[in-house]
Amino acid sequence: MKPFTTVEISLSIPLPAAAVILEDRYSPGSLYLVKRARHLKFLGGFYAFPGGKVDAADNELASSLDPWDIALVCAVREMFEETGVLLLRDNQGNSIKSSQELAQIRCDLLEKRLTFAEILSSQQWTISSADFYPVGIFTTPSFSPMRFETRFFLTRIPSGQVPEVYAEELEEGSWGNPSDHLKKWYAEEILISPPVLGLLEKLNQIKPTDWRIIAESGLVNIKEFKLDRVRFASWIEVVSVICPGPSMAQTGNVCLLGHATFYLLDPGALDPLGEQAIQTAIQSRVDSGDVFLGILLTHHHPDHIASAKFFANHWRVPVFAHQATAERILDKVKVNHFLNDGDQLPLGFNHFTGSNLVLTAFHTPGHAVGHLVFFEERSKTLFAGDLVSTSTTILISPPEGHLATYLGSIQRMIKMEPELLMPYHGCPAEDGKKVLETALLHREKRESVLLSCLLQSEFKSIEEIAFEVYRGLPEPLMKLAQKQIYAGLIKLKEEDRVLELEQRWKLFK
Ligand SMILES: [Zn+2]
Repeated sequence: MKPFTTVEISLSIPLPAAAVILEDRYSPGSLYLVKRARHLKFLGGFYAFPGGKVDAADNELASSLDPWDIALVCAVREMFEETGVLLLRDNQGNSIKSSQELAQIRCDLLEKRLTFAEILSSQQWTISSADFYPVGIFTTPSFSPMRFETRFFLTRIPSGQVPEVYAEELEEGSWGNPSDHLKKWYAEEILISPPVLGLLEKLNQIKPTDWRIIAESGLVNIKEFKLDRVRFASWIEVVSVICPGPSMAQTGNVCLLGHATFYLLDPGALDPLGEQAIQTAIQSRVDSGDVFLGILLTHHHPDHIASAKFFANHWRVPVFAHQATAERILDKVKVNHFLNDGDQLPLGFNHFTGSNLVLTAFHTPGHAVGHLVFFEERSKTLFAGDLVSTSTTILISPPEGHLATYLGSIQRMIKMEPELLMPYHGCPAEDGKKVLETALLHREKRESVLLSCLLQSEFKSIEEIAFEVYRGLPEPLMKLAQKQIYAGLIKLKEEDRVLELEQRWKLFK
């Protein structure tokens, strides 16, 4: 293990946010979940409690500088914007009813003709903090490029109001007891944002009549909610770790996959903290009677294999990878079983869906010669390794990297029509096919930029092209950009579209 002190990493700082656990006044225990629009970058397509991030005006409206008071303003404003439910009281202390006028006020807020502060002062409406129970704080694990420190409030919908979701950000809303929502999640009919899943599980263990009492004494153990270990389906657990990167350390999603039996995918932790987090996750599965079957590697890069040897030795489990990967890590990790395209690994019986989970390996070279992705066909879940990322651009570095092969690998996986996509770097995405298509589109755009740069003159060196295309990019990112350009030039040369003379390049006319 390497010392942690030398690690240089840019993790995004969590932004303050708030969310509302809205309970049905007439059907105690029934909670309102909203489905986030698929186009949203952060957990698009996942179900969550309504909410959003704190804005500057929320600070000014808050009764104090206490983060909970600021979050409360945010929670009330976001709730009104997203669902039309207004959690305020009038100057007589009465709650507010749905009306044509209220709908118009919401419209004015959404279209920025009115601010939330103006609405409160003109209508003499106020937030009654007694209506809300602070429940807990959840901080987005480091896997996400966008991170939030979200404060959750429990409250009841005022009488005479009906939620109506804001179509720009949300697809639909649905009421149900925690067990109703959880049943759908276990059956893999819906995805639920990890903190909301944790809260629903907590609430499900307590009678709704006791929710408020327990909320007051701290429903959620805050420490527990800060763990970088979350579930995206009943058989997918993610441990977010810091791992080595090409220019600086980055975060990686190490996965535990399976039900009664499980595999560990890409344990690339750089530091003892990450290794400890993975170790804890494995230990708790083994303690509950699950069988640890082995370690799967998508490819040979250090951020995917850094702690593979440690876990293979400690747990005495075999390592599985493509032969080309095995050859590249001979001195680091012993690969016991070669995986070929189409090889299948059973993950056990999923008693929630009544079906067997099977992981299929697909050989997807381009980023690395031995690159594999793993696909679970029934749920259409793709463990993408470095085929794509939702937080960074995948480096195609010749001669190991080959752009045309890489694009072919992406196209092949698009045909599988993946739904949930778990990248190694970045936030999981509900619409996997879209993520892959976006990656292709991005490469097409980069190619047209490269072509238009070459159009302008005679032979150019890679350094000259990089200087024009990525002007102002700091070293060592410029070095990585040059590699990407080189990969693009090789593709164009193979297509007879550019000429190369003494490492200088020109359009073939
Ligand atoms: Zn890689």
